[in-house]
Amino acid sequence: MKIALVTGANRGIGLEVARQLAAAGVTVIKTGRDPGHVDVVLDVTNADSIAACKRTVLAEFGRVDILVNNAAVLIGEDRDLLATPIDEFRMTFETNVFGAIAVAQAFVPGMVERRTGSVVNVSSAAGQLSSMGTYAPAYSISKASLNAFTVQLAAATRGMGVLVNSVNPGWVRTRMGGPGAPTSVEQGADTIVWLALQPANGPTGQFFSNRHPINW
Ligand code: NDP
Repeated sequence: MKIALVTGANRGIGLEVARQLAAAGVTVIKTGRDPGHVDVVLDVTNADSIAACKRTVLAEFGRVDILVNNAAVLIGEDRDLLATPIDEFRMTFETNVFGAIAVAQAFVPGMVERRTGSVVNVSSAAGQLSSMGTYAPAYSISKASLNAFTVQLAAATRGMGVLVNSVNPGWVRTRMGGPGAPTSVEQGADTIVWLALQPANGPTGQFFSNRHPINW
């Protein structure tokens, strides 16, 4: 049975990804900052928290086969690029980029050792360079950086049994997406789960939306 770790799984898309993976027979480790709503506490911006999470996960579950880097923050959505305080970029990158990289550094070496694994980085259309405009500068630039991380990690693990991809879940009704978003959490989680469950010869180093590859 596969074992999946989902970041930011206490609510929103992450919670639904955890639900759908569990329904598919995967053992799911829900992680997040809120101890009351997760299996293992994990603040992706905190190195000690990542190390403690790794220790607990390896002791209790033995390994991680699927990593879903879902945790993110959307800060300064309406800011102009040139008026966005640098600290807002820092805070955004801490979670959306450095957090995803640090959690991958904790769990992907084990996947490489076992020659099997899948990493799904939850990105956004906001991070798509080919269509990028002025929306949410810090967030959008962070998601483009997350996509670059996907490309780098896929290249670094190519031929080693590890698949690494980015997903645009669409505009989804969550706390981040708001009540007016057109997409349900079920639909938003769908492509993430589909990628997480790909066989060993599945795609790697690509960006997906609605189960189809899209431009970076
Ligand atoms: P929510 O705001 O509902 O959920 C965000 C999750 O990230 C929460 O569980 C939150 O935990 C967690 N989180 C934030 N910071 C940290 C941290 N430092 N450590 C651990 N967990 C953290 O957003 P969504 O569910 O909508 O977003 C999920 C993903 O989908 C994100 O990557 C987002 O960028 C992406 N996305 C969402 C879209 C949408 O329309 N909703 C559109 C495109 C992409 P806590 O409760 O502790 O804050």
